[in-house]
Amino acid sequence: VFITFEGGDGAGKTTQLQLLAAALSERGYTVVQTREPGGTMLGTQIRELLLHGGAVSPRAEALLYAADRAQHVASVIRPGLEAGAVVLSDRYIDSSLAYQGGARELGAGIRAISEWATEELWPDLTVLLDIPENEGLARADDGHYDRIEAEGREFHRAVRENFLALAADNPQRYLVLNARETVAELAAQIIARVETLLAG
Ligand code: C5P
Ligand code: MG
Repeated sequence: VFITFEGGDGAGKTTQLQLLAAALSERGYTVVQTREPGGTMLGTQIRELLLHGGAVSPRAEALLYAADRAQHVASVIRPGLEAGAVVLSDRYIDSSLAYQGGARELGAGIRAISEWATEELWPDLTVLLDIPENEGLARADDGHYDRIEAEGREFHRAVRENFLALAADNPQRYLVLNARETVAELAAQIIARVETLLAG
């Protein structure tokens, strides 16, 4: 079973992913916790280029995310799924659709390169932690903004709207949560939905 966490910067994806991983391990499941960009050795270098490597044209950026994801699927996600693990990823294809496809306005090509990069591996469940962009950015502010966090408010608003549109288009796959609820409230809703998924 493959589950992804999506949402803008500062939504709380990493916190909720870790809580879900702990809850599933406690229930006896084997869990693989991973993230994008940077879930592999190659990906760690790509992440560094993306976040701190200076100017990157939108199409070059999109292809770097796709390369990161191709390596991630081939060496972490598919092997994990084949071994019977529950694979949890902090970001996946939907981030590219929202950031590069939506906010950077690259459109349908992003879906095409994402499907090519992953051989069309889509998640079974995507948890969207939705938060107003100004609150997310304030939470993500750790004093050293990376290149994308430094984008303007409009960019992050577009990201949010694109995630919400993706969720509306894929209601079966998506669990949309209000990221302003407490950590415990969010965790309870996520495990409830995941238990239903694992029972099915
Ligand atoms: O999730 P995390 O904060 O580690 O992501 C790193 C940065 O990359 C974030 O600032 C995020 O906005 C950005 N990003 C992006 N396009 C993606 C995935 C992440 O711009 N497809
Ligand atoms: Mg960040």
